[in-house]
Amino acid sequence: MKLCEFIRPASLAQARAALRKLGPKGMPLAGGTALHFMPGKAPVSAVDITGLGLSYIRQKGAFFEIGAATPLSDIQRHRGPRWAMHEICRRISTHQIRNVSTIGGNIARVFPWADLPVVLLAMNARLVIYSGKMKEMGADEYFSSQPARLFRGGDLLAAVKIPVLKAHHGFGSVKAARNAAAFSMVTIAALLELKDGKIADARVAAGSAIPFPKRLPSVEAALIGKEPSAEVFRAAAALAGADAKWCKQEGMSAEYVANLAEVSIVDALERAAEFARGRTA
Ligand SMILES: Cc1cc2nc3c(=O)[nH]c(=O)nc-3n(C[C@H](O)[C@H](O)[C@H](O)COP(=O)(O)OP(=O)(O)OC[C@H]3O[C@@H](n4cnc5c(N)ncnc54)[C@H](O)[C@@H]3O)c2cc1C
Repeated sequence: MKLCEFIRPASLAQARAALRKLGPKGMPLAGGTALHFMPGKAPVSAVDITGLGLSYIRQKGAFFEIGAATPLSDIQRHRGPRWAMHEICRRISTHQIRNVSTIGGNIARVFPWADLPVVLLAMNARLVIYSGKMKEMGADEYFSSQPARLFRGGDLLAAVKIPVLKAHHGFGSVKAARNAAAFSMVTIAALLELKDGKIADARVAAGSAIPFPKRLPSVEAALIGKEPSAEVFRAAAALAGADAKWCKQEGMSAEYVANLAEVSIVDALERAAEFARGRTA
């Protein structure tokens, strides 16, 4: 992508007005780390959204609210008793990339290897979009197809709201990659709600090894009402093929990827159960 101009608006309203005026010749620019993944030779005007006060993490009632321009390194460093976002952020690329790459940039245009959409689907996050006023959308709707569809008219992602984990909630994520900085081969995230020793609710999502991140409803249904044991997790993970068509990747057959995904689902569920037990004990 070729940038021909930088526009530095002073407010979200100004940024949206500039984008609306530019139409297809303009684009929001956050960390800029995805530019070389984006095709196209036509010159584009970049509307810089990093000076609009969108870099913050704060707890507001039942949610952690993360500003859309918050760098992944800030999320990685944040800690709190009912917070689990740091785990996946430290698995994304290198320090240099995480210092500039933002949560909004990772999820406004989803690339096949993106890890955060998987985690946000499992966590049932809410997305705050600025369209002249703030409006909210649940993760299931937001990630139902490429989110870039929502921003073509100049609207902007303003924030991400992550539910504060409850005492009986457990969260686990797994990113299988060839080395620490590599793109994911498969990413899995799981949120379990335990009640009286049984799984009362489950959200399990996958990404990277499938064309677009999604939840795994057959896996989720097979968990509900059961005890959080290794056998239950293995039986549920074996159903993932009904929800996701695992794609072959460089050096890996589709069968290999399917097996990797199943093992990663079991791993994520075990982590989530351990997390929940550790917090309810
Ligand atoms: C070498 C390398 C390895 C990587 N590995 C991984 C990985 O393993 N896993 C992973 O998840 N990510 C990985 N990434 C990061 C990912 O691919 C993107 O580059 C990054 O998340 C984009 O964030 P950004 O802030 O730089 O966004 P930008 O590059 O600034 O923008 C990305 C897109 O989002 C739009 N956009 C940005 N912010 C907003 C907003 N608030 N509202 C509306 N639209 C917006 C832009 O217009 C653009 O279309 C890697 C990146 C690199 C360079």
